Amino acid sequence: MDNFVVSARKYRPQNFNTVVGQSHITTTLKNAILNNHLAHAFLFCGPRGVGKTTCARILAKTINCTNITKEGEACNQCDSCTSFEKGASLNIHELDAASNNSVDDIRTLVDQVRFAPQAGKYKVYIVDEVHMLSASAFNAFLKTLEEPPAHAIFILATTEKHKILPTILSRCQIFDFKRITSNDTVEHLEEIIGKEHIKAERNALQLIAQKSEGCMRDALSILDKIVSFSNGELTYKNTLEHLNILDEEYFFKLLDYLAKQDLTNAMLLYDEINQKGFEGDMVMSGLSSFIRNLLVCKDPASAVLLESIEGWRDQYISTAKQISTPYLVSALNILNEAEIQFKVARNKRLHVEMAIIKLNFLAQAIELSLEDNQIVKKKLVDAQYPIRLKKIVPLSNISVNAEAKLVIETPALEKINPGNSPSHSPIPSPVPSPVPAKSKIASTTTREISSAIPTQMEQKEDGPKKNLLAALQEKYGKEYDIQEVKESTPLSLDILQKCWDEYAVILEANAKHASAGTFKVAQLNIIDDWHFTVTVGALTAQKFVEQERMNVLERVWEIFQNRTIQFDILVEASEQEDVPLHMRLNSKQKYDRIAEQYPLVSALKKRCNLEVYF
Ligand SMILES: [Zn+2]
Repeated sequence: MDNFVVSARKYRPQNFNTVVGQSHITTTLKNAILNNHLAHAFLFCGPRGVGKTTCARILAKTINCTNITKEGEACNQCDSCTSFEKGASLNIHELDAASNNSVDDIRTLVDQVRFAPQAGKYKVYIVDEVHMLSASAFNAFLKTLEEPPAHAIFILATTEKHKILPTILSRCQIFDFKRITSNDTVEHLEEIIGKEHIKAERNALQLIAQKSEGCMRDALSILDKIVSFSNGELTYKNTLEHLNILDEEYFFKLLDYLAKQDLTNAMLLYDEINQKGFEGDMVMSGLSSFIRNLLVCKDPASAVLLESIEGWRDQYISTAKQISTPYLVSALNILNEAEIQFKVARNKRLHVEMAIIKLNFLAQAIELSLEDNQIVKKKLVDAQYPIRLKKIVPLSNISVNAEAKLVIETPALEKINPGNSPSHSPIPSPVPSPVPAKSKIASTTTREISSAIPTQMEQKEDGPKKNLLAALQEKYGKEYDIQEVKESTPLSLDILQKCWDEYAVILEANAKHASAGTFKVAQLNIIDDWHFTVTVGALTAQKFVEQERMNVLERVWEIFQNRTIQFDILVEASEQEDVPLHMRLNSKQKYDRIAEQYPLVSALKKRCNLEVYF
């Protein structure tokens, strides 16, 4: 019996033309060879198993060939080519940086570089997995990489380009290898089974291509395994079994049950799949890919993205027509969430079943938002959580007068400030008046918004304002719940004084005796509905009140439900006069006063041309 050689080695491409799926790179390399424009350092990046090392070897062989063809390929016949094929050439050095990543390994390599080849033109150094080199090994390599001898060519290969130092990247010509497409893999596999006289169903080869995810080495090793396992006959069934792939038929069946909201059968089917040895996470990721495939089949233009074997293609397209896009997108979301949570879920089986239950009732939820077969963005599940302003429960239950007429009073509208900001008043400060506010209604913001309170005063003169409220509700009611604004009460001295005295007690309790004393003797006076004054006996007392301003205001606002209320602190006039005049004037003021009283002083200053320094 002949020695078995794995397909990946046996059918390793021998020239650029047979490299699968990397024509963008092989063409460039061939042109560079023909035009003698070869760089001295290359970096080959890309996923594993896509032909990086193979291309490096072909390049090494081709540039040493003594009889390069017109297409830029090696002749495979000259001495150099044959020694390369036997693996006996001295002009190729391969270093696996994953296991030889120290500075010493690189120094050994650099030492070798100095010697010219005995036969052939170039010595080619292939450094595989170059990202594994240590930082110091990289640095030891830099100088040689930048100015190598004319006979040396470096080919660095990596799967992780982002780990390569920029100083290395800038010294290399970079080639990015692509993942091999499913079609390319299938064609290559077909070529090989033709040569090996193996019978295979195309579906089975497509399954292998799908499973290998663009890695030709994996595809070939899977092929080898199944060939030996199935006695040289590849069928769809035995490939599925061997690759442990869940047949898509199960997903079509599951989706059918879910769309019909047949939860019983859906659960039973999941159990059946489970019995076959497919774990919950595999089922969910398989179902996600399946739904993704349906989604791309919705549009014929994107159907090329379908990742499945050709045999299912028609069924995908016909099923996609029956299932709505919102359902598919929402189902993907649910599965994605469930997959993320799967690892932390304690009861894995229940976790997957929950996802299935959600998918089962998802159809129902979405149907309700379909109108005339038009896709409506809002789904029922979302509609339960609309964005809405926070509702404030009003203190009183007085509701808005429903019979209010819709008359909009334009000038008044401009005064409206629904923000009700305490820091700024929408109208100019009214002139302080000693008359209690009860008899005089100032049309402040609060007043207008709270005019819903049908008090006697308002009924007398607030008629249009009530209409304004109704109009505002009509206009903004959908966005802002004006009804929910708390009703404010007009300032009244009794309540204010009570609140003030209570605060004094709190100050006392907090051992702020000086402040408490000031609060107790302070005189309150209401100016209008949102403004009052506090009269104290001394400048120091003013400071005590000022310190407590915000705290006391918070309480007042709370009691009167009006955040526009402010107060001024007045100091009694007698207090100011107690201070001796000379203590309140600065030097300049003193001089001015003296000069005013004694004109001779200013005359003297003028005559002698004196300067006064204050
Ligand atoms: Zn040759």
